[in-house]
Amino acid sequence: MEIVKKTARELAELIRAGELSSVEVTQAFLARIEKLDTQLHAFLFVDKEGALAAAKAVDADLAAGKELPPYAGVPIAIKDNICQRGIPTTCGSAMLEGWKAPYDATVVRNIKAARLPILGHTNMDEFAMGSSTEHSAFGPTRNPWDTSRIPGGSGGGSAAAVAAYLAPWALGSDTGGSIRQPGAVTGTVGAKPTYGAISRYGLIAMASSLDQIGPVARTVEDAAILQTLVGGHDPLDSTSLPDTEVDLPAAAQKGKPADLHGCKIGIVKETLAAGYGEGVLEVFSNTLDSLRERGAEIVEISCPSFEYALAAYYLIMPAEASSNLARFDGVRYGNRVEPTSGPVTAETMMRATREAKFGVEVKRRIILGTHVLSAGFYDSYYGSAQKVRTLVQRDLAAAFSKVAVLISPTAPTVAFRFGENINDPMKMYLNDMTTIPANLAGVPAMTIPAGLVNGLPVGVQVMAPAHADASMYEYAAAVEALAPAAASECPVAMGEEK
Ligand code: GLN
Repeated sequence: MEIVKKTARELAELIRAGELSSVEVTQAFLARIEKLDTQLHAFLFVDKEGALAAAKAVDADLAAGKELPPYAGVPIAIKDNICQRGIPTTCGSAMLEGWKAPYDATVVRNIKAARLPILGHTNMDEFAMGSSTEHSAFGPTRNPWDTSRIPGGSGGGSAAAVAAYLAPWALGSDTGGSIRQPGAVTGTVGAKPTYGAISRYGLIAMASSLDQIGPVARTVEDAAILQTLVGGHDPLDSTSLPDTEVDLPAAAQKGKPADLHGCKIGIVKETLAAGYGEGVLEVFSNTLDSLRERGAEIVEISCPSFEYALAAYYLIMPAEASSNLARFDGVRYGNRVEPTSGPVTAETMMRATREAKFGVEVKRRIILGTHVLSAGFYDSYYGSAQKVRTLVQRDLAAAFSKVAVLISPTAPTVAFRFGENINDPMKMYLNDMTTIPANLAGVPAMTIPAGLVNGLPVGVQVMAPAHADASMYEYAAAVEALAPAAASECPVAMGEEK
């Protein structure tokens, strides 16, 4: 099999066995990026030199007989809102174009310690706001399954890179679904761990109480491995969880045989009510049938608060974002723009900067967030949304007292076409309807490729109780084992193959 089609675990084994060098592997991905990414635009920055230097160092240490970490030499891609020292980190925004991070995020430090060459930074909706990457200031990423369609968002770049074999795995960030929805529409695996399981230090904040870094991969096992590599306690993040002894890759292994006798899996009635595109629910019910055949008991559960989760999210998220994005003012951060007329004061400069350098979706959310936090509106909007958040947490706690995990479709439709939703924010926001409850409650959730509709991938989401990331991986591996292989094998309908 071609190098680029191997999983990260397989590549690590080949490198350790001396059958492939890290330079060979890294070069294979760089060559593929060079060949395909002019069309796909999954990357905003490719660090050819840095990646090859890291790979060479791994090969030299292996040749010298040094003991290296188990995944040393396997390259990775990183979403462009994660700081890497000396490398352009833009969040897909003109505001940060050309800005080079002065320090490494904790996850980047962990990646460097694990000796993974970093291929580059991936495209995203500006400041992680969107479901299609159409809001990237540098132009959208294309879905490798069909380049007339979106790859999801905001982390469409990481998902497309992994789907099209431009990287074996990648990091994303998920505030309302930005790892999982792109995973669903690109036939890749993506996980949002329990809030606090992976440090957010060095992740450029969108909505801090919801933001979570997580793995993007082609297999559940690779995702579990990557979460383990980058996760763990970090004193630099005050919301970081203590270290645990839980072995996530072992949990993924355990789930593979998919013997589910005695397992209870919940489906939330409110999630399945309406709004799905053609074929999505059919793929989902096929998944349920296969799970039942393997002995699982499927239990219907009601989570009445889910009906209000999307609305609550679109109040809490903009509120936090409006505060986090205040630092992009041309003084502390951001490319300064002077006003073209009138007096130049700090205020007119800030206004000109924010007017010129933020895109339309970012402005929309800052205005909304500022409004819901303003005196007179705070209680009725922000306060009510926080109450809904508590109800979602309670509904989920009650659900998890009855079942081990919850399962649902990850996204309401297959990948849509460019331009279809861009002028209708409400339609765009509905893409998050099944992913948002996990962010509001801080529980882990991941997407697994489950089937195809008209040749386009559909994902299924597994949600687990807080701190039960191992159960999430175990059940996800069962879903993966039961899914048709074609669901995750992107034919890359473009360039070379056409
Ligand atoms: N689509 C969601 C939004 O636009 C997801 C954001 C995210 O997870 N970063 O808010």
